[in-house]
Formats: sequence, structure tokens, C-alpha cells
Amino acid sequence: MSGLFGLANLPYGVCSVDGSAPRAVTRLGDHVVDLATLLDDDVFAGPSLNPFMAQGRARWDVVRTAIGEALAGGLPADGVHAIGDVRMHLPFEVADYVDFYASEHHASNLGRLFRPDSPDPLTPNWRHLPIGYTGRASSIVVSGTDVVRPCGQRLVDGVPELGPSLRLDLEAEVGFVVGAGSPMGTPIPAVEAAKHIFGVVLFNDWSARDVQAWEYVPLGPHLGKSFASTISPWVVPLAALDHARVEVPRQQPAPLPYLALDEPWGLDIDLEVELNGEVISRPPYRSMYWSPAQMLAHLTVGGAPTRTGDLFASGTVSGPELDQVGSLIERGKGFLEDGDEVVLRATAPGVDGSRIGFGEARGRIREARS
Ligand code: MN
Repeated sequence: MSGLFGLANLPYGVCSVDGSAPRAVTRLGDHVVDLATLLDDDVFAGPSLNPFMAQGRARWDVVRTAIGEALAGGLPADGVHAIGDVRMHLPFEVADYVDFYASEHHASNLGRLFRPDSPDPLTPNWRHLPIGYTGRASSIVVSGTDVVRPCGQRLVDGVPELGPSLRLDLEAEVGFVVGAGSPMGTPIPAVEAAKHIFGVVLFNDWSARDVQAWEYVPLGPHLGKSFASTISPWVVPLAALDHARVEVPRQQPAPLPYLALDEPWGLDIDLEVELNGEVISRPPYRSMYWSPAQMLAHLTVGGAPTRTGDLFASGTVSGPELDQVGSLIERGKGFLEDGDEVVLRATAPGVDGSRIGFGEARGRIREARS
């Protein structure tokens, strides 16, 4: 029942109605259901999911069961709105944000473009650790927020100039939300990751390629990726993805023990990239080399703490085929123009052959500030 948002999904979001204070909701079909009303629990009465996410895995499981039971007979009488009548907000307060680089196909494609003289498109460390960089948490916006074309330094005829990016790109990614944090000095091994990862969002890591190409040596991305990143408004619980679990591709050489997996941590999520109403690519998340459990293990192995609301994204999802790439630079047909609109969507297997949806991460490019 209820298509991509049936009882097997039950994602979490935050919405307001007619300018009311934002509150936590779940979604069933084309309706949102107020969770504080449904469950008589004030942890859901506020404008973010953080207080609930901080309660940890055992509570998440109890609440998910309770929501499923409460909605098993259909929509309740109170606290229900049609999806078209609500405004969705950023569902959680983003604490820290890290972006990884976990697709072998994407890393190889970018390596050939950025380092054409290198014999191996992958850097020597790539198969040993999930490469990532710490990004700007406050630049993360919810689906539907316009994206202003960024200005930055980029080379024009070999000379650096400050101006609007001329090579503005999208990156189709999947983001993972940390619910229960971890103290400084306490690494999270990959086998413990499910105790900490609350759920999954779609993530568009808008990228100014000309700014990025000039600035990234030797410390990595900075202004080329700090102007805006768009997430979907629904956090799909990790538990809803039990039927989407698949083995990651064979990892050779075998990762170090802190990165070892004891269960399938690949995710069979089918992504879709739409540009101005036309689907231009279908990136397969199952092809990702590094899993989210390994990303979190690596992020914390040096002793870094994690906090409720931390977000780490997978890096661009690209499959082996040209119609599976998650960025325009890999496609080779030009970059984003002012007025262009990009929508990311995705589905994954649910129970009994059904599919669950992630909603969408939508953004339109506005002209640069003069
Ligand atoms: Mn990225």
C-alpha cells in the first residue's frame, strides 16, 4: 500500500503548515503524520529530529515499531496533512559534515580528468582507506532551496581571476546521519556502525569545478564545495533498508581490521538524476567500493568524536556506464546554466518485492551575486 511511502518505509521529516512551528512527522503515502500527536511524545514536538536521534538505537527500534502499529490500520484522525499542504524543513540540525569519495568509478573518472599525466587514475591510498574531507555543515540546505552560482578564483587563460564559476556541477550522493554520537578518543569500528547511523538522505554536493581545480592542491576541496549542498527532507531509517543490504564489491587488498565488515553493508539503492525534467543518469549505489560503516570507522579511528546530527556523504555515485555517472563533468556534455533545475531521486527494495522511496533533493541555479 501507499507506493514508495508505505509501512516498510516510515521516514522521518520536519514540516510546518501555514506558517506554524515546524514539528517532526512521518510520511504514509501522500500524507504526513504528526509524531508528537500519534505517539503522545513531546520529543517530536520540536523543530528538529536531533532530540529523538540522540536517544539511540534501542529507542529508534521501539519507536519505529510503535509507528508501524499505530498506522497499520491507515491514517489516524488527528495530526494528518496532505503532502501538498506542508512545507518541509531541514529535518535535523547538521553538526559536522564530511564528504567521502567512495566510488571507484567516479574516483577513476575524476583522476583521469584532474591528473591526466598520472599512470594510475586512483591515488596510492585509495584502496586502503575511504578518502574524505571535512566540509561546511552550515552550507547544507533542504530540497527546494535555490542555489546561487558561487564566485571564486579560477584560471582564465592561465591567469587567476575572481568571478562566477563557469563550470558548475552536481554530485549525486547518499548521505548518512549520525544519531547517537561517540566521545572523543573512542573509535567506532565498522561492526558497531549500525548503533550510530540513524538514517539516510539524498545529497547533492554542488561543485564549482573551475574553483575546485585551482584550489584543491594540496589540501583538497574548499570554496568549490562550500556554497551549498542539498539534502532530501526525509531521513529514511537504516532499519527500512534491511532488504536493500548487499555485499560491497570485492575489496582488494583486504582492508585493515578496523575497517572489516561482518555483515553486508552495500546498499542496493537506485538513484536517478533529473536535469530540467529529463532523467540523464541512473547511478547504482550498490557499485560503491567503500561502505558507510567503513566511512564512519575511518572518520573516528583517529579519535575524532561524533555528535548527534553529524552528516557524512558517500561521494559521487557513479556506475561503470556513461548513463550511470553522478556528475556532469564525467558525462562530458557541459555544465549547469542559470535557471537549470536538478532533482535527485532514489528507490530501494522494501519487503515482498515492494520499493521504498527517498523523496527528492531538488535545487535550481540562480545567477551569481553581482
Ligand atoms: Mn562530493
